Amino acid sequence: MRVSFLGLGAIGRPMAVHLTGSPFELAVWNRTRSRAEEFTAAHGARLASTPADAARDAEVIVTCLPTSREVKELLDGPDGLLATMREGALLVDCTSGDPESSREIARRLAERGIGFVDAPVSGGTSGAEAGTLTVMVGGDEHAVQRARVVLEAFGKRIVHCGPVGAGHAVKAVNNALLAAQLWATGEGLAALSAAGVDPRIALEVINASSGRSNASENLIPQRVLDGSFPRTFRLALLDKDVGIAAGVTRGERTSAPMLQLTAELFRLAHVELGEEADHVESIRLIERWSGVEIRSQGEE
Ligand code: NDP
Repeated sequence: MRVSFLGLGAIGRPMAVHLTGSPFELAVWNRTRSRAEEFTAAHGARLASTPADAARDAEVIVTCLPTSREVKELLDGPDGLLATMREGALLVDCTSGDPESSREIARRLAERGIGFVDAPVSGGTSGAEAGTLTVMVGGDEHAVQRARVVLEAFGKRIVHCGPVGAGHAVKAVNNALLAAQLWATGEGLAALSAAGVDPRIALEVINASSGRSNASENLIPQRVLDGSFPRTFRLALLDKDVGIAAGVTRGERTSAPMLQLTAELFRLAHVELGEEADHVESIRLIERWSGVEIRSQGEE
């Protein structure tokens, strides 16, 4: 199967690695060409010079870009995907995008007989490396079936969530929950640290109790307590996701003061900490406002 992958970023790159072997014939394109060159030198895929070159002859085209805006920008112009995408091809958008943009992209592609599914992923860069991502898919049954062979190369759980846009909506809500849990756990641990409780001890209790979450079980113990804050998923991208979730609640006119507040907090953290900060670094803002650092006082 001829597959093209566009967007070799923090998560796109390890996803694309799983498409380098049989039954796939892979072509890659990246805006910063040196990253694509490095990929092809390491893994042997075809280096595409433009999005149009990547789409030429491809049966399935995978995009993994920051937002739906960049995906839309990639479609048009002499070097754009639409210049060469063939009737019967399928665009699989693994960007954590927004549902409305995806419906618009799907409509444009359908006019040319090209299929579309939104297929954002969850599981982080480590899940991408291990090929164990969860993939949330939106699209019609036929398109989702066609996408499956590609998605199963890097995904362990492929879930068809509904029509086009449903994958992006589920992903945005999932990440809004991640953001809310991260922030609330950070506030609680800042207070406990100020009260003289070692946050490692506090987490031992929380993780054996009903307040546990991915933030308390993994993110904070592995990245905050030792002050390492590795950069794997940019805060700017989580801000975007929570903003999309808040937009979904507004569009559907459901009650969501908690998600609206979470969107406000992550917008502020993004502005304060900048484009390159990791999402877990949002905790730094809580530390700054509280005048306390959430650090373990030592290994047990
Ligand atoms: P990165 O910022 O690491 O990479 C972004 C990629 O998009 C790079 O390949 C970049 O190219 C490319 N790009 C940026 N702007 C443009 C543009 N205008 N035109 C063409 N290409 C562009 O992001 P991630 O890989 O972390 O994230 C990608 C998507 O996956 C996002 O939607 C994110 O929310 C989602 N995601 C990320 C996870 C993670 O753990 N990192 C987890 C789950 C989902 P260049 O090399 O030139 O900068």
